[in-house]
Amino acid sequence: MESPTNHPESYESPKESEVLKNINIADTETHLRTLFEGVEGFIELRAFKDNKAVVKFFDSINPTLQWVKENTEKLRESDVYVGVNPRAVKPERGGGKEEHIRTCHFAVVDKDFKKEITVDNLSDEVKIALAEKGFWKSNKVTIVKQGKKVYEIRKPKFSDFILWLYDRIEPLGLKPSLIIDSGWGYHIYIKLNETTPEVWGEIQGYLADLLGGDRLIDPPRIIRLAGTLNNKFALKNTCRILYSSEEPPINADELLKKLKSIVEGIKEARELSHTDFGLNILDVLKKWGYDPEENLKPSGDELVGAHPVHGSTTGRNFWVDPDNNRWNCFRADCAVDGKPSGGGVLQLIAVLEGLIDCKDARKGTLRGELFKKVLRIAKEKYGARIELPKPVDDFNTLMNDDDPESGESDPFDHLVKLSEKLQESSTTADEAWEYEIPPIELNLPEDNFITKFMRMAERRTDAYKEYHFIGAISILSRIAGRRVYVDFLHERVYPNVWAMTLGDSTISRKSTAMKIAKTVVEFVGIRGFFLPHDFSPESLIQILSQKSTGAIWHPEGGKLLATLKKQYAIDLRDFLCILYDGENYYRTLRKEEFEITDPYVTIWLAMTPAVFKKHSTTLDFESGFLARFIYVNPQYEKEWRPFGLATKEDLEAFEEVCEFLKEIHMRVVDSKEDIRIDFDPEAFEFYQEWQRRWEEEVIRTKNQILATLLGRYYLYAVKLAMLFTLGDKEFEPIITLEYIQEACRVVDEYLLPYAVNLIKELEWDEERNLQEKILGTLKRHGGELTRRDLLRYLHKPLREVSEALEALVHSGEIELVKKDGKIVVKLKHKATKKQVNGNNGTNGNSGDYTTVVIRREPPVTELLGIDGKTYLLKANAMVTLPRVNAEPLIRAGIAEEFSGGGDSK
Ligand SMILES: [Zn+2]
Repeated sequence: MESPTNHPESYESPKESEVLKNINIADTETHLRTLFEGVEGFIELRAFKDNKAVVKFFDSINPTLQWVKENTEKLRESDVYVGVNPRAVKPERGGGKEEHIRTCHFAVVDKDFKKEITVDNLSDEVKIALAEKGFWKSNKVTIVKQGKKVYEIRKPKFSDFILWLYDRIEPLGLKPSLIIDSGWGYHIYIKLNETTPEVWGEIQGYLADLLGGDRLIDPPRIIRLAGTLNNKFALKNTCRILYSSEEPPINADELLKKLKSIVEGIKEARELSHTDFGLNILDVLKKWGYDPEENLKPSGDELVGAHPVHGSTTGRNFWVDPDNNRWNCFRADCAVDGKPSGGGVLQLIAVLEGLIDCKDARKGTLRGELFKKVLRIAKEKYGARIELPKPVDDFNTLMNDDDPESGESDPFDHLVKLSEKLQESSTTADEAWEYEIPPIELNLPEDNFITKFMRMAERRTDAYKEYHFIGAISILSRIAGRRVYVDFLHERVYPNVWAMTLGDSTISRKSTAMKIAKTVVEFVGIRGFFLPHDFSPESLIQILSQKSTGAIWHPEGGKLLATLKKQYAIDLRDFLCILYDGENYYRTLRKEEFEITDPYVTIWLAMTPAVFKKHSTTLDFESGFLARFIYVNPQYEKEWRPFGLATKEDLEAFEEVCEFLKEIHMRVVDSKEDIRIDFDPEAFEFYQEWQRRWEEEVIRTKNQILATLLGRYYLYAVKLAMLFTLGDKEFEPIITLEYIQEACRVVDEYLLPYAVNLIKELEWDEERNLQEKILGTLKRHGGELTRRDLLRYLHKPLREVSEALEALVHSGEIELVKKDGKIVVKLKHKATKKQVNGNNGTNGNSGDYTTVVIRREPPVTELLGIDGKTYLLKANAMVTLPRVNAEPLIRAGIAEEFSGGGDSK
């Protein structure tokens, strides 16, 4: 619409001396004719004086005007009102009531600028004026007294008000027919086609929400009549028409729909703004490079300007409400069903950083990985006070493509083939990854330290011998230190080994195995062999700055993994990787500088597979952290042996191993120079060939996880060969063909299959979770979504989603149908049931989860979920937990559901 221009530019509130003494009958006539010309029914007028009311009904405009003219003397001392809606019948007595109203023709907004205040804070000057005259007035503020109450009125100039109004009603295509100065505010009239009191009431409610002001929603409502005097206060004022224009009526039903959408969009944005993590919306804009002072103009309580990302043709589509940390975009292209986009600080960051389109800034968009990504940026770039739940996934596939047939082959294909080669008996490709890895058999000389150690340990316990293998190489690895190395053209390789021994509690006897290895080390008396296994990052840095070599052996290694998952430990994980790679490290802690030079740290962790899976994700392999470890997870049936008494032979074997270790230790310690180990030419040729084969696999695999793993594991073959060499009775610093062949075989036949099995299991769990996530998302969206929308909500690569969908189709939980050329994913009815049943806590994977923000820290911060997992409820933390557990927290005001409201209610 065009900005209304026929208002008197020069108009200002009348000065005290100019208060009109008489009714302005011309304004009264305009008001009545605008409201009732051509309208059937009775016009109701009410005049109040000294708490007495006169009620009058007229069947048309002229008699009404006639009555006002005849009674000007009385009426100018009164407050005169008119019923906005015509009365279909004349009440028998009293004023018009709801039952008398059948039709409505005008929407009205009463924008009042009057606010009650307390006298106490006012200056003496104002207090005296109030006592003497009943009012005090300056250019911007009027303070008036009515009875015992005092009001402050900050009515904007009409020229400012009209701009404010224009901004707000322009997106609705509205033009006012009439704007009246009511004395202390403005009344805006919008002409509607004839509508019902019900629709009228709803429109009135939404208009009040949009523009502020009183909620004039009851149909018999009366409003001040133009041209009459406002006698309520000591400072009298006139009710004058400032603007009138003949406008065609607006379709009430359409207006209601539009209003509803816009108001909902604003409300939603306000709700979303509740999660701001201490960020101020103006600071965020400024930090991003959009200076609010330069780009935004005040409009009422809000700031208005051109959208920072997509701009604006009007220069006024972007709205910021700094008090509520809320923004909205009123660009037509960004509206969905008329609902403007917008939100709080996080939605703004997502739009500014290009993570979502402006039109998608609304409730329910920031979820899953996308949400975590926004949080991370909010924290790192904008300084939000957030405790991040865990490191953020780097996903690069926000799917725009609606084509599922991308033709990617299973990245594990070649490993399935490898596993078939390894295990002739494996039946189908599907089961191949579950193949059992046979007991380890080593082809090392009888007098190699590793053979001796394993024999000795096997005599003492029925633990899986794989653990003893890890024990032997862990000891040698630590003893070698940085003093033993192989020089490749591009890098120097040290024999440091990080290992995990996995096994079910007790029967596997993984801690017994660790204990035996430890006893040997202690018996030999190698000083400074160990580093403490319970440490904070700070303490580890301090220790390593003094002594940069050591072994971390933890019989309950899950504790270390759990520590690494905590937010503060993200650093620790990176720090450990630096140690593994043997790089120098500098760090200032509590103003003290620490320097770790030439670090050499070996790790051996024992834990159950369940604990390992609980604290690990495929991402931890992909990021390289878990790929730095070798694993044994033996599950074959082994012979059980009762504890026996140590025989003379057992003791001799033990002593022999200890003597041997002493010898090897001396070998390293006594060497004047670091021990450079070379390859025998034949051995090197073999290794090159073997490595080439793996590098081809790395290139061939599209699976990043596998690529990272393979990249690390071909160096493990070198490390093992170095340790085999170091453990040789007749030590020569040469890797022989036999040793490198054996090392490569151990990697191929045991270590790589163990690691791949673990990754497969993690993937399987995660896939299962993805299936649950799909079911949950569908359920929250009324049981069906287009596949494109589903992908948007899931933020997972198309390939993974397609696989999960396929599995769900097969299990009969969902179906895919084509609708208007789009693929729609539909929940089948029984799936809903299953989902509900899954909530009884019997299945840890299933059930409905929700993400909440902890608003207030509860007295007990640890909550045991129905899924058996423990959840930490720290202030400001984001927690994803079972909905059943979340709901009481939300009701108690402890937690607030994050952006899930639109999906879940
Ligand atoms: Zn927009």
